[in-house]
Amino acid sequence: MAPRKSSVAKSKCALCGAKEVSEPRGEERYCRDCWEKKIAVEEIVAREFALKRYIRAHSAEKYLIYHSTIKRPCGQIIVVDDGYDLFLTMVLYPNFGWDESGYHLDGDPEGRTFAEILVDVVATEVIEPWGGGKWHLEIFRSANPDAEDWNGEM
Ligand SMILES: [Zn+2]
Repeated sequence: MAPRKSSVAKSKCALCGAKEVSEPRGEERYCRDCWEKKIAVEEIVAREFALKRYIRAHSAEKYLIYHSTIKRPCGQIIVVDDGYDLFLTMVLYPNFGWDESGYHLDGDPEGRTFAEILVDVVATEVIEPWGGGKWHLEIFRSANPDAEDWNGEM
């Protein structure tokens, strides 16, 4: 094992530049106060998203993703439970700035995009209610805001 640099343990918080780092565990970059502030901001940003379920089957669900700034859905999620793991497929529509920073804190070395924050929302609102466990998520970017709809009967 490589020797630990003692300077890392003593470094100051990236946000306030005053207190010593203690969070997050293993990758300490923030003091506890600033970390809690950052988490609180992320929670506010996360609450701007709303997941609305519109198909509910025995072992699958489909949700539309809404953001408070736009009327139309900006994505969708399909969840399939194969009896062991959860398989999620997320499609992000081009009508929302998914790659933009979800928030800005002065001096913060680690921002997060809306797409990354959405993954937290999905974990809390979809994966946990399904019972948690092992899950796999694929994210696709759609070129069109609207789906091409086909209907049939055989
Ligand atoms: Zn701090």
